[in-house]
Amino acid sequence: MTDVNHHISDDLLMGYAAGALPQAFDLVVATHVSLSEDARARLTGFEAIGGAVLDRVGEAELAEDSLEATLARISGVEPEERSAPEQSEGIFPTPLQRVVGGDLDAVNWRSVGMGVKQAVLHSGKDGSARLLMIPAGQAMPVHGHRGLEMTLVLKGAYSDDDGRYARGDIEIADEEMHHTPIADAGEDCVCLIATDAPLKFDGLLPRIAQPFVGI
Ligand code: ZN
Repeated sequence: MTDVNHHISDDLLMGYAAGALPQAFDLVVATHVSLSEDARARLTGFEAIGGAVLDRVGEAELAEDSLEATLARISGVEPEERSAPEQSEGIFPTPLQRVVGGDLDAVNWRSVGMGVKQAVLHSGKDGSARLLMIPAGQAMPVHGHRGLEMTLVLKGAYSDDDGRYARGDIEIADEEMHHTPIADAGEDCVCLIATDAPLKFDGLLPRIAQPFVGI
């Protein structure tokens, strides 16, 4: 089991339990939950609370296990799969494997410069989800955020002003935050990232490159 040090917040986990997160964030949380016993335990609690609230609304209005069915409809994921522990071979937990169509070797990477590669998994009005591979020892350009950015580490590790993030760790960045993630030396870092708005790069060159990179 992965030893997670940076956990997801309760409000995001509750939003996930309610099926209220945009698709890109839903994928990151589902993947994080697969890697974190702590997140799984808290999620189970929130789902129980949600079920209890709906029970009180009355059985006349709601069919048996309609919360679960509703959650499944919203997210497109079966309830038992949402909180399933990590089972898959390789480095991608099951929810991510399903989207990618395999593990790391199935990813359709595109180079975005400086040795960094990305693969966009989902792009819509509500946000985007992508995989990013940062070469060992490489720094990402310093950037701010126009909205929310959620980063989950799948392989290797990176550090920024707020600490070091390794497999299973999740980092939330918002408009207040400017950071320069630097991958650990010795191993390429692979992350799953959801954003609800384009990033705001500080340097001139990255800003020009941004429309092409699409991040
Ligand atoms: Zn960021």
